Amino acid sequence: MSLAHQAYKELYNKEPTKELSLSYSGHFSAFNANVQYTKTFMKFRLSTQWKTISEEIQKGLIQSLLSRIKPVQQTTTNMDLYEKFHKNLSKYTPSIQSDPELEESFNSINEQYFHGMLDKPNLVWGQPSTGKLGSYEYATNTITISSIFKNQPQLLNYVMYHELLHKKHQYITKGGRTHSHTTAFRQEEKKYKTQDIEQQLSTFLAKHKIKKFLKFW
Ligand SMILES: [Zn+2]
Repeated sequence: MSLAHQAYKELYNKEPTKELSLSYSGHFSAFNANVQYTKTFMKFRLSTQWKTISEEIQKGLIQSLLSRIKPVQQTTTNMDLYEKFHKNLSKYTPSIQSDPELEESFNSINEQYFHGMLDKPNLVWGQPSTGKLGSYEYATNTITISSIFKNQPQLLNYVMYHELLHKKHQYITKGGRTHSHTTAFRQEEKKYKTQDIEQQLSTFLAKHKIKKFLKFW
């Protein structure tokens, strides 16, 4: 029985109705993976790095992918193993990418709010998006911040704070769903020292959208 087959059977307690396959691909970065599926088959593709990882954890990854397609009430031991592994990944991924403006913001927020205890993640500018302001990716330990915040140190610091809270709080998984904005997260987020920062942020975003709109005309 193949690993994918085993994973399926142990997750749903029945034989799969589709053809399952598993392959390793060098096209993915870090520990990424995905699943493609149709009515007749499911193809799991894992990055080549996964080859060196215990099959028990790989099984957990496959089950986590499966549960996104067809949710389950209870997680398996393998899924819990995979989740632990995933949370720890960022500790093993060396931090390399950075940018002076982002680094300054990181250092200042880390000092002010985290007693300088957080290790520096990769810091990169993203697309100039007004929708997605920032993100933190655990697998590669990377904070990406919308480039509309270039030369906006006050607002940049606030978005940096939010993303660093993600790094600190990690996330919890319930029934295959990921929750990252937990109550504890939101409470700590409110401790930001600039009281009207949310207001400043929405004013800035509104102006930015108008500017983009005028440019378009
Ligand atoms: Zn968030």
